[in-house]
Amino acid sequence: MSRFAAVRFSHFLPSLLLLGCGMLAASLPHLSEFFTSLFNVLPTLLLLLGGTFCLVYSRQRELFLLLVLYLGYFLLDIQLDHYRSEGQVRPDAALVFHLCSLLLPLLYGLYAAWQERTHLVQDLVARAAVLLALGGVALALAQRHPEALLQWLSVIRWPALHGEWMSLVQLAYPVFLLGLILLLVQYLRAPRPLHAAQLLGLCGVLWMLPQTFSLPHALHVMSSQVMLMLVAAVAHEAYQMAFRDELTGLPGRRALTERLQRLGRSYVIAMADVDHFKKFNDSHGHDVGDQVLRLVASQLRKVGGGGKAYRYGGEEFTLVFPGKTLEECLPHLEVVRQAVEDYHLQLRDKNSRPQNDQQGRQRRAGTSAAQVSVTVSIGVAERAAEQGSPQQVIKAADQALYSAKSAGRNCIRSHGQRRGAIKLAAPRN
Ligand code: GH3
Ligand code: MG
Ligand code: MG
Repeated sequence: MSRFAAVRFSHFLPSLLLLGCGMLAASLPHLSEFFTSLFNVLPTLLLLLGGTFCLVYSRQRELFLLLVLYLGYFLLDIQLDHYRSEGQVRPDAALVFHLCSLLLPLLYGLYAAWQERTHLVQDLVARAAVLLALGGVALALAQRHPEALLQWLSVIRWPALHGEWMSLVQLAYPVFLLGLILLLVQYLRAPRPLHAAQLLGLCGVLWMLPQTFSLPHALHVMSSQVMLMLVAAVAHEAYQMAFRDELTGLPGRRALTERLQRLGRSYVIAMADVDHFKKFNDSHGHDVGDQVLRLVASQLRKVGGGGKAYRYGGEEFTLVFPGKTLEECLPHLEVVRQAVEDYHLQLRDKNSRPQNDQQGRQRRAGTSAAQVSVTVSIGVAERAAEQGSPQQVIKAADQALYSAKSAGRNCIRSHGQRRGAIKLAAPRN
């Protein structure tokens, strides 16, 4: 499966909503007292809560991203407070603002692209060392040679590329651009909610900085939103880890247990099991076995009739049809059983990879032996009055699965069915 196939709009949705709401709220001339107070404390609250969570669960990357964002927010907030109360900026305002414009995208991009290592303490120390070194050098230069540093930051290095709209130091723009490209590539290589949030977070910072002194709430609102994006992405991934099966992408056993508790009075449960999978693994290897499980999952996921597929464990899958009868589900199960049988997986190991285009075409035309296919047996049970719990219905579906195996596999059997084939009607959606 290509990596691009794992790109999901849903990875970006929460961050996009937060970004959009942040831009809208920051652009409002007046915020209610409630929201003003909320956004005044939110960055600190998010650093404390999100930071503690990241520290406890060893998410150093996100911890340092929160820290960098908070430091930037803190330094600029001091300037903003002074500007609001005195009506003019502090003498060091330009230097602090330019330094933040440069260091914020630099450190954010660096920490976001810096993959976590297995040695947690080493990782933590290395990240802290980078922050202290860069921060220390910047502080020392700002105190000893403020004029020269300001001059160095403000100089327009590439006049041909300078635009009137550029309100940050020119040097900040290539740093932002590099960071955005790096984070985009990172997302495309490993499409995850966190990588999407990091990318949109940097967009939020790029939007926020030029508005810091012109829009009264831009700094508080956007800092809060970007930190919230990161915390929400960490929570999103934790949820996925707990409820999604990593290999197939289907909801896993825990998600099934939760779903079973919310089923109504009538429902149908089917258990599907890959036929002779042990033999398949033994002859083709575990990697091909894993590919086949993904393939079976991708077909089961498409089941119609309001059914939902879960990975029960190993090479067994569960399909749940809430509010349906056996007769309504059987045709849909037959469609997925047939789809699995008809699907031929092209083996992608070194020896079987086509050497040239012609060979590739021949293989797709079916003239090569480098294809494999599997079948599934399905046992299905409807909740009957005497079956009190979903676990009992699963047990009944399991017994029916056993009958399907005994009947020669690659077929569907329902609980209580006499020996012989099920007559199937065309599916009605
Ligand atoms: P039957 O037709 O009776 O179901 O035979 P079977 O060989 O499919 O059944 P059995 O339960 O004996 O074997 C299941 C095999 O599934 C054993 C194990 O190696 C394999 N398996 C379980 N989980 C995974 C997995 O995540 N990846 C791979 N590749 N194999 C798995
Ligand atoms: Mg099995
Ligand atoms: Mg099996």
